[in-house]
Amino acid sequence: MTETKQQYGDPMTYPIWEAAARYELLIQHCKVCGHYQFYPRPFCLNCDSDQLEWKRVSGDATVYSKTTVHLKIAPEFDPPYVVALVELDEGPRMLCNIEGGAAEIGDRVKLAWREREDAPPLPIWMPA
Ligand SMILES: [Zn+2]
Repeated sequence: MTETKQQYGDPMTYPIWEAAARYELLIQHCKVCGHYQFYPRPFCLNCDSDQLEWKRVSGDATVYSKTTVHLKIAPEFDPPYVVALVELDEGPRMLCNIEGGAAEIGDRVKLAWREREDAPPLPIWMPA
């Protein structure tokens, strides 16, 4: 009997979630032009190449934009909480939560992980 490995996400994001289980952040990288991109796509946004690979990145980033949510809009999120776009040092921006302290636009932030029961750890950011 063959046991099927349970995978999280969809085929384009399987590598991201497999790495998240090891607390590693992977970003797509173009082997032709060096462009990094997020979210993952089947081709490079910069040069249209399909020669993409996954690179582990530190998650070191700068807050590009942020807002604080004060209304309860989902049962799993207790306000207030911060939703932000952080710009990775490699270039791509990621939508995320910032936890563990206040961070303003332009502030440096670092990668952290939020444990989840039925899913791989979720990347979040905290003040650097
Ligand atoms: Zn490219």
